[in-house]
Amino acid sequence: MQAHDARLDLLTHRLRRLPEVATVDQLQARRAEVATGLGVQQMTATDLETDVRKADSDVAQVRTRRQRDQQRLDTGAVGSPRELEKLQHEVGSLDRRISVLEDAELEVMEQLDQARADAAGSERQLVELDAELSDATARRDESIAELDRQAALARAERARAVALVPADLLALYDKIRAQQGGVGAAALRQRRCEGCRLELNAADLRELAGEPTDAVLRCPECNRLLVRTAESGL
Ligand SMILES: [Zn+2]
Repeated sequence: MQAHDARLDLLTHRLRRLPEVATVDQLQARRAEVATGLGVQQMTATDLETDVRKADSDVAQVRTRRQRDQQRLDTGAVGSPRELEKLQHEVGSLDRRISVLEDAELEVMEQLDQARADAAGSERQLVELDAELSDATARRDESIAELDRQAALARAERARAVALVPADLLALYDKIRAQQGGVGAAALRQRRCEGCRLELNAADLRELAGEPTDAVLRCPECNRLLVRTAESGL
């Protein structure tokens, strides 16, 4: 009984500490992080697309005005030298303005390229992480299924053992097991209780040796059920 229970406890413990579970959790956390990053990068790209369109229309507007001025110069529509000088001056300042706006547009376009490249990188990472997650999840589920299979076997063996133990003794065993950290019964080997590891004194040993062979023995130190062995020392 005790051996089956110890095995079941061990299997439960291993199930809780399965490294495959931790791996899946880590991958899921990393995936969530990358997905959040991708969301931010896509939003940034959308904002920058708006900025590029705005910069483009700014440049176009000034270019239109520059063309109109140029036409007036080319067709000789402006008569007075004073007005001509004014117009030429304006064309010069419009050229400088166009240059500044084009530089600004170029800068925003570069930022947009960067944001799109970042988003594409995150998308590739997500594809890789999804593949890793799928493998890790399959490995985790395999390990869980294997531990479940072993636990089912141990439970079946325990059930067979339970059938051989009287109900009151089983109740006592379960009670002590709950109180004593999962160990309700221990072997008595070479005068030592293997539950608490203490050696029994001569008086206690004499008392235990005097009990009938079908009597249930208890450790005088830790109260656990004592199982007689060939080398109990009684
Ligand atoms: Zn003991």
